Amino acid sequence: MKNVLSVFDCFGLLASKVAPNVFDLSSGQYHVSLRDQIVRGRLLVRDLCAVNSSFDSLLVVGAGAGGLAVAVEAAKRGKRVVVLEASGTPMWRQMSASRRYVGPFMYEWPWQFSRNQEYPPKDLTIWDHFETCPTLSAVKPSTAKEFAGQILGWFDAQSLACPELHTAVDVVGALQKRVQEYLRTGFRTDQSLDLSDMSWRGEFTGPLNIKPEYIVLAAGMGVENCTLPHHDGVEAKKEEDPFKGTMFWEDDALQEHAKNGGDIVVIGGGDGALQDVLRALTNHDHPMQTLEQLEKCKDTAEQLERVREQLQTIDSQARLMAGWSWDPSEWRVADRLCREVTAGLAVQACVRTSVIECLRELDAGRGQKVTLLIKETYFDKAYMLNRFLVHLIHQVLEHAKHGGEADKRIGFDLRTEMNVQGVQKVGAEKYKVHCLKAEEIVTTSFDADYIAVRFGIDRKSIPGLQMVHLRGDDQRQRTTLSRLPLPFVV
Ligand SMILES: Cc1cc2nc3c(=O)[nH]c(=O)nc-3n(C[C@H](O)[C@H](O)[C@H](O)COP(=O)(O)OP(=O)(O)OC[C@H]3O[C@@H](n4cnc5c(N)ncnc54)[C@H](O)[C@@H]3O)c2cc1C
Repeated sequence: MKNVLSVFDCFGLLASKVAPNVFDLSSGQYHVSLRDQIVRGRLLVRDLCAVNSSFDSLLVVGAGAGGLAVAVEAAKRGKRVVVLEASGTPMWRQMSASRRYVGPFMYEWPWQFSRNQEYPPKDLTIWDHFETCPTLSAVKPSTAKEFAGQILGWFDAQSLACPELHTAVDVVGALQKRVQEYLRTGFRTDQSLDLSDMSWRGEFTGPLNIKPEYIVLAAGMGVENCTLPHHDGVEAKKEEDPFKGTMFWEDDALQEHAKNGGDIVVIGGGDGALQDVLRALTNHDHPMQTLEQLEKCKDTAEQLERVREQLQTIDSQARLMAGWSWDPSEWRVADRLCREVTAGLAVQACVRTSVIECLRELDAGRGQKVTLLIKETYFDKAYMLNRFLVHLIHQVLEHAKHGGEADKRIGFDLRTEMNVQGVQKVGAEKYKVHCLKAEEIVTTSFDADYIAVRFGIDRKSIPGLQMVHLRGDDQRQRTTLSRLPLPFVV
């Protein structure tokens, strides 16, 4: 008999597998976009079906972008799918954010296709047809709330066409305990999961029991750490309830304070922090608007075009390196190179004029500044668009200091190697942020009317790890694979 070699695409499985027949899409992912999670989920289902086309049912825990993409793709392939969501609605995280802007491609800048946010992309000269993936119709970045609404609309329409796809919401308390117990023991011993008393979304009323062959955990990255200890001006009071900043996907008052002339302090060196710095420094809701305003000047547009390929190369190398190394300091190189590019641009008068025009104007007789406090000497994981614009503004303002070109605009104070000690409340909506600079013993303080704390995810809170009780080391080994760059669309 002839030997037949069967080759399957199974990278999606290897990258997400955490236990026998259990896959985790979200745990340990720190620099992924909503689009990444949609692609990751769809690849997982594709590979699962390639390896075992005859499986019957799938349980998905978590109804964010990743979980919904998995559920629809599996249901369309004829699988019985149950999605369990802890909150009252799928996509609740982005539903709560009407002041954040997202788009599936905006952070692919400086690639030209980043200008159009339609998903799947429509330009048939560079893209194939992608018929079954989630659809987003907005060309410009939209609010996270609108984005979530479109994904949910797509999901509901697909659910109607897939009678074996059911979504339970409000899975909390005793229901949550039952699910967790099932994940720990029931699933391994081949029992059914009792779902007779769930709150089902849509017209389905149950009852339903399921004995899934596979489980996909899509419960998110964990809880964001936006807290800082209180400080009395002498020392941090770690025993007191901490100062709580607004979460990334919540509506915040940053732009309101910035508009009213308030001093803003942003803490953190990653993408969330850079997004907030840009929202505070400019009148724009998202960085694409800033870019578009810069490009209104023909000479500045030419200067930006001149460095586009350079930035593209720096960014591609950094992203690829991040997939092959755990060391976050890999971003140091990209950051230095990007800063050098912006320093070269800032000597051009046209660029300075265009950048300064993007900055908030000061009210007569009033100073105002945005302070960014970072722990390292470089910005770490951040998209090139945000990294580039923050460096560009900083370089332009440094240059402009000498000639007074930007005296009527908001200031930007970028402080590196800052170890933030705590926050002192000194009046109604008036704060002092106390920091210790590396190697120094005296604290430096910064005045703030509004503080954005962008420390990223608290790694102890990752839901997937809690559900299947993985040890940290196992997680680390798995995640190195799952960090490899994903396609833009599948
Ligand atoms: C600071 C910050 C800034 C970001 N900025 C951007 C950005 O600008 N653009 C962008 O595209 N992405 C951004 N992201 C990333 C984006 O938030 C994630 O990629 C995306 O939300 C992940 O999707 P997900 O489906 O894996 O998880 P989530 O969106 O977190 O969804 C997980 C779902 O699981 C549910 N759940 C949790 N535990 C359980 C449980 N035990 N049982 C049942 N359900 C459960 C949750 O309620 C939630 O609905 C940012 C993330 C952070 C932290």
